[in-house]
Amino acid sequence: MDYLPIFLKIEDRPCLVVGAGKVAARKIALLARAGAHTTVVSPEVCAEVKELIKQDNVSCIERQFREEDMDGVVLVIAATDDEAINRGVSALAHQHRIPVNVVNAPNEGNFIMPSIIDRSPVQVAISTGGASPVLARLLRARLESFIPAAYGRLAHLVNDYRGSVKKHFSNSGQRRYFWENILQGRVAELLFAGHEEKARAALEEAIEDTDVHYQSSGEVYLVGAGPGDPDLITFRAMRLMQQADVVVYDRLVSEPVLDMVRRDAEMIYAGKARDQHTLSQESINELLVRLAKEGKRVLRLKGGDPFIFGRGGEEIETLAEEGIPFQVVPGITAASGCASYAGIPLTHRDYAQSVTFVTAHLKDGSIDLDWEMLAKPAQTIVFYMGLHSIPVIGRELVAHGLPKQTPVALVQKGTTRQQRIYIETLESLADLGEREQLQPPTIIIVGEVVSLQEKLSWFGMSSRGQQTG
Ligand code: SAH
Repeated sequence: MDYLPIFLKIEDRPCLVVGAGKVAARKIALLARAGAHTTVVSPEVCAEVKELIKQDNVSCIERQFREEDMDGVVLVIAATDDEAINRGVSALAHQHRIPVNVVNAPNEGNFIMPSIIDRSPVQVAISTGGASPVLARLLRARLESFIPAAYGRLAHLVNDYRGSVKKHFSNSGQRRYFWENILQGRVAELLFAGHEEKARAALEEAIEDTDVHYQSSGEVYLVGAGPGDPDLITFRAMRLMQQADVVVYDRLVSEPVLDMVRRDAEMIYAGKARDQHTLSQESINELLVRLAKEGKRVLRLKGGDPFIFGRGGEEIETLAEEGIPFQVVPGITAASGCASYAGIPLTHRDYAQSVTFVTAHLKDGSIDLDWEMLAKPAQTIVFYMGLHSIPVIGRELVAHGLPKQTPVALVQKGTTRQQRIYIETLESLADLGEREQLQPPTIIIVGEVVSLQEKLSWFGMSSRGQQTG
């Protein structure tokens, strides 16, 4: 181990930063956040530092560094762009036995500043011992995604109750078990969802419940899994996927996304292939209620966004009626995922001032849309579940006034490695079925914005469908 990681209390202590350029500004800002009294010494001061010295606890002396600047300080950072000056500052600090950091030359000083994730009071510091700050930053980005922004508040909450939990559970093993339940269960989720008071109440209740095998009550997470590419799921979805006991998922949820679910979670397939619903909507609703009542953390995983043609509303209605706690996590809906990955901006100042999402598949199998409204110019229409209505869409939009040559994109398995894009026109949709073997899921985008696709497409791995338009 080349360095000893420690967290230093420097609140109200005098610190010195030599240099006032951009790099110095970042260090000064950090010292200020930690409450230090920072003196900056430099003949020239950049705009960022000028901004920082407006704060009470940052002051600046505009001249060259002198030895006396070091009097009484507890920490020194040499951050000029002149190596000789930095070396001089470092040598003096060593002489006075003051910890010193030299930017961009970790070996010159005797402490280094890590990459940090700040969820105060929770902090994670990452160091590569100066070997590769870029690697440290990449690692940090990865860890950021696993640590919810509200972890700081969670730590404060836990801190408030540490004493009373200690009183209730004298055995340290019991305490650990208790806190593991709290930090991964309902109390934490309540807090993350913004219900601080309820989280406190639930925690107090849990402490009073002297039963050591404290069981958190069940809950349902209605989570949008996005259109296919696992990189598109949210941090929140990711976290809930890691802590669910049971997962009820639809056909549209892609394999790579399912792979990210906690390994030992029970997996229940709820189907939803067109015309062959494996479980009826009623029995899915009942299943969710039953599992949650058994005390399980149930992840209801849906393709795209649960509130966009996902029947998410129906499912949580039943939960609400039964008084079962739930939370809803948005996902990237197929329209925006597929449009982005196909290079089709859904709105554009020159082509479309609005965008409409419609479903071309209705409960009884018929398609009954307000074609007049849809056929207005200067808008984009995105049809979900439209694979079996393609000729109807082309015919009706033309019949209601859109030009025959209006471009149409069919994006099949969008955002995945199998993504294919077919560019058509409203006119050519009529006999498309005979030429192409289109597979679900496919989304249909109609409007002038589609003409930008050729220029803006970027998603490399797709094998582009033939452009027949
Ligand atoms: N809740 C989902 C939509 C469910 S309806 C969402 O927000 O995306 C199912 C329809 O979504 C499919 O028939 C298809 O039109 C569209 N769809 C979903 N994923 C898709 C994908 N990866 N590529 C193309 N279309 C997709």
